[in-house]
Amino acid sequence: MQPMRLSCLMALLLCIPSCSSEKKTTPTGNMCSDFSFPKVQSHDTDERVSTVLSSMTLADKVGQMAGSKSGIRHTPDNEENNIRGFRFRDGPRGVRMEDDGAATCFPVPVGRGATWDIDLERRVGRAMGAEVRGLGHNSLLAPCVNTLRHPAWGRAQESYGEDPWFLGTMGTAFTLGTQEHVPVCVKHFAGNNIEDTRMTNNAIIDERTLRENYLRQFRMVIEDADAACVMSAYNKVNGLYCAENPTLLRDILKDEWDFDGFVVSDWFGTHNTVAQALAGLDVEMPWPLHYDELQAAVEAGEVPEDVIDEAVQRILRIKFKYGFAFLDEPFDGDPSVVESPEHIALAREAARKSMVLLKNEGSVLPLARTAGTRIAVVGPWANEARLGDNGSSSVTPSYTVSPFQGILNGAGAGVEVVNSVDASAAKDADIAIVVAALTPEDEGEAIIEGGDRDLLDVSKEQEDLINEVAAMVDTTIVVLEAGGPITMEAWKANADGIIMAWYPGMEGGNALADVMFGDHNFSGRVIQTWPKKVEDEPIFGNDQDETVFEYFHGYRHFDAYDIEPLFPFGFGLSYTTFSYTNLSVPCVSVTPGGRLDVSFDVTNTGSVDGAAVPQLYVSYPESAVERAKRELKGFARVELTPGETKRVTIPLKVSELAYYDTATSQWVVESVRHEVSVGPNARTLPLSASIVVGQAQLVE
Ligand code: BGC
Repeated sequence: MQPMRLSCLMALLLCIPSCSSEKKTTPTGNMCSDFSFPKVQSHDTDERVSTVLSSMTLADKVGQMAGSKSGIRHTPDNEENNIRGFRFRDGPRGVRMEDDGAATCFPVPVGRGATWDIDLERRVGRAMGAEVRGLGHNSLLAPCVNTLRHPAWGRAQESYGEDPWFLGTMGTAFTLGTQEHVPVCVKHFAGNNIEDTRMTNNAIIDERTLRENYLRQFRMVIEDADAACVMSAYNKVNGLYCAENPTLLRDILKDEWDFDGFVVSDWFGTHNTVAQALAGLDVEMPWPLHYDELQAAVEAGEVPEDVIDEAVQRILRIKFKYGFAFLDEPFDGDPSVVESPEHIALAREAARKSMVLLKNEGSVLPLARTAGTRIAVVGPWANEARLGDNGSSSVTPSYTVSPFQGILNGAGAGVEVVNSVDASAAKDADIAIVVAALTPEDEGEAIIEGGDRDLLDVSKEQEDLINEVAAMVDTTIVVLEAGGPITMEAWKANADGIIMAWYPGMEGGNALADVMFGDHNFSGRVIQTWPKKVEDEPIFGNDQDETVFEYFHGYRHFDAYDIEPLFPFGFGLSYTTFSYTNLSVPCVSVTPGGRLDVSFDVTNTGSVDGAAVPQLYVSYPESAVERAKRELKGFARVELTPGETKRVTIPLKVSELAYYDTATSQWVVESVRHEVSVGPNARTLPLSASIVVGQAQLVE
């Protein structure tokens, strides 16, 4: 990969007085080199690829460039040359087996993102990769790193929220884990942020917005995790379908980013033989819809054979790299990893850490296990596990744990736990837990079911149920299950406690009990800005043929227009409290590709164990161009016992300060004052300090 470079010999970062009252300390132990993750070894791949390629006919080669009718997620074997086809399986909630058996069902990616736990996401990726292989397949169609441009997006559950850098960070972690076993296919490239019109929508995205907010995360997953495959999106970007978009596939992805894997189309998302071949679409799925004409197009001189050779080289390179190129070399996995106790425990850990405590008035949580207490768990989804939509990411585990079952399991002897769909069970209860959820008809992959959300609230029936129960019972706690923000002005004041549980996977009910009874603390933080009302968001545009993607979305939009969110990006409560002190930003010279280490103390000021999630944002008060008021550039997840203080260091790459300059087609770091802020969420940043970057300009 071609690394980003600083064009000047040296970028000098100078500290100037902090804007906060925090005293800066001299840095210690900073400036360690950029970390890098191990990659799958490629051995003498290129040589082996050339040998095989030279023995293939044009028909053999073209045959490798499309799916096979023998399976909707397969590409064909080529027996003459002993080449095995791809056996793709969908993620990213777990391995999708359709009617073919069970697999571990993890919380949906939006929930896993809310853990802010990079190591956990890598472990989930690793587990999914092992299950793909254990189930007899060889490639995973995940992660999905599309930006949540609007909370109504139907596939919000499959991705990691609104921030491109955060999406890239989580996608990288997942990919590194999965690719220890099988190649991933990062999707959907690009601008796939609307579901209802995904097959036809023309996303109009100016180059700076595209680079900074919609491509950035793909580049991170490719450069930092060496993702093997990229899936083109259904929609158009700036007038051309993504599967035949040479700017996206050839100029940016393959040439500029030096991507050496292959590009696969989204299923049935292709339109034109010659245009897609020339643009750089290596594999058409699910079968030759247009590539049935590819050989003829080569023979007619419309597509050079070099284009075919390049595509097949890319395909073979990945097959060799991951060790499944040859049919007569077994590519076996271990079937016992599928739904193994370790993977199920991981699903529960992920679910527990994903849950976000949004409100806890009067400290109604954690629930005490007091004998004689009667807890009612009510609502249409109280005794049915909601795993997410029924689209390509759906997973069928061999069992699930509903919220009611989980609370029952966790309550212990002496506590009575009852359940009803309506409010009846709440009548004599001391505590009512109302489970309010979205369904696949409300949100999910379009065509298959719901598509985009019409509104951001739960159904009127569920809102009425919450208010009815709250009027009957002293303590009412609402558990939300959905893929993104829920508006709640109709009932929020009546709920004492509110929990966002996302779609928490097969062990969701047990994980809910883990945090509700206080056996574990809440540690999830939202990865979207939650609006008070849908009108606070930019126009979604999911009913138009053409949609203009504006520069600001999410917290950038709320900051730019000074809108008060319901819950800011990064928000989440805990059973304990944290303080942030002693910020230190070192005065150091950085070399090209360098970074500075931002350090500070975090203290658990409460009385129980807990995890803080300090977040680092950068502002550009002196920038010559329009910029977001602040942008997330780093975070940590810090476990602390009561009274404990830990010094936290967050690395900040100089390159992360850049904006994309369309006049010069360069990433530019301005030599002006930048402000670095640290705190528990995007709107609460108690620590800040300024840095000046000396004459640094970042170029491709
Ligand atoms: C989805 C992809 C998925 C593919 C294969 C498409 O409809 O958009 O995310 O990987 O189907 O199942």
